[in-house]
Amino acid sequence: MNHEIPVRYDPRLIEEAVFLALRRHPETATYHRERNLVYEIADPEAREGAFREFNLRWFDRLGLGNPVAQALAEAPGLAGGVGQCVAVSAAKRHDEGAELFVNSEPGLSDEGRRTVRILVRPDSLLDPAALMLFLRHELMHISDMIDPGFGYEPALPVTGGGPAHRRLLVDRYRALWDATIDGRMARRGWAPESLRDERWHDFCRAFPMPERNGARAFSRFFDQEGWTHPKLLAFALDPGAVATTTDGTASAGSRCSLCGFPTHAFAGEPQRLPPDVIAAIVTDFPQWQPSHGLCLQCADLYRARELSLRAAESLPGKHGVRPSGYP
Ligand SMILES: [Zn+2]
Ligand SMILES: [Zn+2]
Repeated sequence: MNHEIPVRYDPRLIEEAVFLALRRHPETATYHRERNLVYEIADPEAREGAFREFNLRWFDRLGLGNPVAQALAEAPGLAGGVGQCVAVSAAKRHDEGAELFVNSEPGLSDEGRRTVRILVRPDSLLDPAALMLFLRHELMHISDMIDPGFGYEPALPVTGGGPAHRRLLVDRYRALWDATIDGRMARRGWAPESLRDERWHDFCRAFPMPERNGARAFSRFFDQEGWTHPKLLAFALDPGAVATTTDGTASAGSRCSLCGFPTHAFAGEPQRLPPDVIAAIVTDFPQWQPSHGLCLQCADLYRARELSLRAAESLPGKHGVRPSGYP
């Protein structure tokens, strides 16, 4: 069963995208002339309706919705698996993405209960090539989420390691999932060569391990098919154990005393960390002493935090403000 997924755009997104697209355009004058006519409608409700119609007409004429329609049609399992898509305006690049909403009301079909929400800046609709790359990646996450074979669970398991551990687990899971997605994109001819390097970089940051083991592990995620949520999670939770059981060569490292993750890469001479970094660690982990050691990631995490604290302190009017959202 293959049919088009209806897309409902937020009128504000349509209006802003059309306005931006026509800033430098052969039809700018026509657009402004028509727009002024709509402004002259006296009745506010009628004017509002006419504006929506006017903007939608230009949106279609400029083909600004084409990338979203194409990406939805191409994403594996979405047509027939998702009932509708809503596209809304994102304020910042960081907020852009795709989300899956599932209506739990009884009596709905799987397709009928699922809505994809795409958040995108109006500006992004003007760059179809970059938008396609972004949408294909984002919608591949959604394809995995609705694929029963992938076995997606919305919440990662609760672990005993505290906020630093949790944050690392999320980063690690994301680095793995993104590697499997961009690997699939590359094999479909949807991704530039550089994407592999970007995912390898993310992987190295999330899993410090000897280069040779790291490259071999990364290639399994990027180059092989058939990954599932439980398999990604198992590796994220315990890369050493999984590496040992699957290829029998890598030895499991011991665990970092802070994040609790097995690691092969401990920070050298933790007693020589700057005193404020040590103090910050002890604030979070009162039992910790430098002789207990810590992994490179945790050392980086705490060094970066001291840097961002100092940066925050150096801003006028922001003395001693702790950046929020940090573990
Ligand atoms: Zn992703
Ligand atoms: Zn650690």
